Amino acid sequence: DLWQGIDFSRSKAEARVDGSTGVKFCDVAGIDEAVEELQELVRYLKNPELFDKMGIKPPHGVLLEGPPGCGKTLVAKAIAGEAGVPFYQMAGSEFVEVLVGVGSARIRDLFKRAKVNKPSVIFIDEIDALATRRQGIFKESSDQLYNAATQERETTLNQLLIELDGFDTGKGVIFLAATNRKDLLDPALLRPGRFDRKIRIRPPGAKGRLDILKIHASKVKMSDSVDLSSYAQNLPGWTGAKLAQLVQEAALVAVRKRHNSILQSDMDDAVDRLTVGPKRVGIELGYQGQCRRATTEVGVALTSHLLRRYENAIVECCDRISIVLLGGRAAEEVIYGRDTSKASVDYLASASWLARKILTIWNLENPMVIHGEPPPWRKSARFVGPRLDFEGSLYDDYNLIEPPLNFKLDDEVAERTEELIRKMYGKTVSLLGSHHAALLKAIKVLLNQKEISGEELDFILNNYPPQTPVRVLE
Ligand code: ADP
Repeated sequence: DLWQGIDFSRSKAEARVDGSTGVKFCDVAGIDEAVEELQELVRYLKNPELFDKMGIKPPHGVLLEGPPGCGKTLVAKAIAGEAGVPFYQMAGSEFVEVLVGVGSARIRDLFKRAKVNKPSVIFIDEIDALATRRQGIFKESSDQLYNAATQERETTLNQLLIELDGFDTGKGVIFLAATNRKDLLDPALLRPGRFDRKIRIRPPGAKGRLDILKIHASKVKMSDSVDLSSYAQNLPGWTGAKLAQLVQEAALVAVRKRHNSILQSDMDDAVDRLTVGPKRVGIELGYQGQCRRATTEVGVALTSHLLRRYENAIVECCDRISIVLLGGRAAEEVIYGRDTSKASVDYLASASWLARKILTIWNLENPMVIHGEPPPWRKSARFVGPRLDFEGSLYDDYNLIEPPLNFKLDDEVAERTEELIRKMYGKTVSLLGSHHAALLKAIKVLLNQKEISGEELDFILNNYPPQTPVRVLE
């Protein structure tokens, strides 16, 4: 049936309501402090009258801030679930319409419905889409569509502020919003009385990752022999969403292999799939091809190790990420000269992509500011696909968000990107060039064993010291 599954009844922009989300705090892990703080909201929702009687002011609004996939939506649902109250959810982008008045009407409608069914929770995801900093004096542009859209956005934001200010009358409703770009929000929204709580939701640490894995493992059939803690230890930068995906992927692998439960090997397969894409079956590299590929892969892993060794000596953080990616191509240049392979060109493309992001996100004047933790480092090399997974760890660690399009900047960015990449590439070639012997040894080991571990790379580096002084560090 062609129409099956299509819901004609609900207009696109009405809030999704969950009478009961069914999510509890025990479904959330790795963000204990946030959960602790949010408990109070549950107590309030369970008994708003008591708070009223005691003269305790309920919190107005709560802003959950942090990178995607760390459980902001999940924890918001858990608040409603614990309190057993309805959950009204909308995305910020659903309020953004060109037609004047539509967005603000949607805001009014959302708050009205939540108040009728109070106690209740309103959750607006990606609130930055609707509440970006206003322009101050509204600048007329020659583009009428742009003018209309800007004006409409401001009307919508104003309506949201009005609703939040009148919140005392809507007792029993908690307003939660989430963003990963707090810096973009209009300051009016952050003023006291609107969001009086701002809670940071961080990517989980090793312990958090283990707890998250346990939660998701408990929902599938996981063999007792699987050592979850080793995954928690070895997957730095992985968010809750990514770990949930890992368990799902492992379950699919297990089904495909007709295992009765998920085995360690299924988990390993799933990690590979999520980090480097599905294994390429059917492409058999000849020996020469293998040497090439080994050079590229070792180049990336070895560069990552070298940078770790000289961590303090290298000033610009973004150098580190780009250089690691350039390591593949640079290793080829050191070993084979100029002529390069497809795999290393892919790495080069990734490096340019990343450099571009760095320049555009941390803006042109001040491109080197970095948020978040240091980059995850490559511990090993394998014969697998050439992609590194940006959507996952790197992406999340650095809050690399697609910047708004700006065509005028484009040329300048392209130029700066090329300049940056050229500079990094030169540094990388000279770094690997100084470690020529270690590079050759590591390539041989990888070719022999098909896999080389982080310890082995370190061992090689210790035993094959640089032939020439490491100039890159000057
Ligand atoms: P966000 O709203 O921060 O982008 P979500 O809450 O939508 O992230 O996370 C997506 C999914 O990932 C969740 O539904 C859950 O399955 C899993 N997940 C994310 N963070 C956690 C966490 N801290 N604990 C358990 N599961 C998590």
